[in-house]
Amino acid sequence: PDAPALLEAVGLHGAYGESKVLHGLDFVVDQGGVTALLGANGAGKTTTLRAICGMIRTAGEIRFNGARIDGRATDAIARLGIAHVPDGRGTFMELTVAENLRLGAYARRDKAGVAADFARMFGYFPTLRERLRQQAGTLSGGEQQMLAIARALLLHPKLLLLDEPSFGLAPRIVRDIFTIMQRIVQEEGVGVLVVEQNASLALAIADRAYLLETGRIVMAGPAADIRRDEAVRRSYLGY
Ligand code: ATP
Repeated sequence: PDAPALLEAVGLHGAYGESKVLHGLDFVVDQGGVTALLGANGAGKTTTLRAICGMIRTAGEIRFNGARIDGRATDAIARLGIAHVPDGRGTFMELTVAENLRLGAYARRDKAGVAADFARMFGYFPTLRERLRQQAGTLSGGEQQMLAIARALLLHPKLLLLDEPSFGLAPRIVRDIFTIMQRIVQEEGVGVLVVEQNASLALAIADRAYLLETGRIVMAGPAADIRRDEAVRRSYLGY
């Protein structure tokens, strides 16, 4: 039989208290691949990432490397190798870049390994090395996004959940970050689930995509097919 997907959701429901937001989603994320979750404002993209992380009440199944993780605590899910870069980016603005990065490695005892990982992160994000002593709050938006991704990678995740990495960034910066993301996927073999309103960019780097509308998946398939779809072009790509 085939190896299980890195992440698989089957009939995933999610709610905030009594307010149901996700209505039975089925999706998969492959190891070493990028899956894009697209949709308009309020479609439930952020909520889907929160559901995977155990931050909200869910029903249905979420499997990570074949094992059920739904219903588990957020920290337990993180320790399994799922790193979440939330839309606020989760950066501590009063702390320096170095301090934020060290927080990404707080649970690790292997000092030499951590140093090597820092060096690897600076290979992807050279500007972070120049800004190590700078307060994170003084970084540009793009640098803050890079810091958030670098910090998440220091946990050696198998799955990276990115919430709207393009948010508030200039197009050129967004392209840079997506290019680096592709490199990271190739070199680290990590699986990525990226939530984006910027559909054209997400579809350019994704191999699989899902379109979410009011808590339901209305389209799923290879990213290249979805990019060619007329309705998607009109509604989400603007051409
Ligand atoms: P956005 O781009 O705005 O983040 P999204 O697709 O990520 O859009 P969600 O943030 O997942 O959408 O929101 C989906 C629905 O859940 C919306 O109707 C929203 O109002 C509702 N919602 C989000 N957060 C909460 C919350 N903390 N409590 C109650 N309802 C919420």
